[in-house]
Amino acid sequence: MRHYLDFILDFIFPSKCILCGRYGLGYVCPECFSKFKIPDKYCKFCGRPLTGISEICYNCNKENPIWDGFEFLGYYDDMWETIIKNLKFRNKPNVAKFIADLAKDKILNKKWDIDFITYVPLSSKRIVERGYNQSEYLAYFLSKSLKKPYGPLLSLNKDIKPQKTLSLKERKENVKGAFSLKEEVKDLPYRNILIVDDVYTTGATLRECVYTLKNNIKSLDKIYIFVAVRALL
Ligand SMILES: [Zn+2]
Ligand SMILES: [Zn+2]
Repeated sequence: MRHYLDFILDFIFPSKCILCGRYGLGYVCPECFSKFKIPDKYCKFCGRPLTGISEICYNCNKENPIWDGFEFLGYYDDMWETIIKNLKFRNKPNVAKFIADLAKDKILNKKWDIDFITYVPLSSKRIVERGYNQSEYLAYFLSKSLKKPYGPLLSLNKDIKPQKTLSLKERKENVKGAFSLKEEVKDLPYRNILIVDDVYTTGATLRECVYTLKNNIKSLDKIYIFVAVRALL
């Protein structure tokens, strides 16, 4: 339970730093923000850190990525864990706005030609528990800052278990056939789509989403991925 003062203080000083708790300095204050490790050189398809001159990691080179671009803000660490928890479980849309504001320039720098933004769907069970889909929040704020339309394209056919506890093989099985294209968007002429999610670990869920979009939207050309955080296993 939140303390009632939190509600009052949120109202008077709407910007409490979600990391150190100080008021009036933004959702992440400049001091906390300066501690962020900004990824330097990373695989352009999955965000894995790279050291050599190659732009693609060993895995992506071997497996042929099924999307055309990938962007993210940071690697999963204690700070990002707190941010993602706030985004996921504490109904803080301003955290999504903070992430989208950071993402804007990174995505614009990529010069991706995006005509629609969508997000990974969440099971209705989890939406009921949580009250919202955190990835939809991200898509909503990105849509505002990038001035592109957004909306749901996929629906969930089965209740997928949280991927966190599963092995790589189980993750693939868990999401296999999990998504389908929404009937009402089948004939929309989208060419280049940006899919948004909060955390990327193995990419199994996103891969399944991309398969579903590619198999069902004839006009589709490019698919780009944006996630807030990249977890390294
Ligand atoms: Zn702070
Ligand atoms: Zn890669």
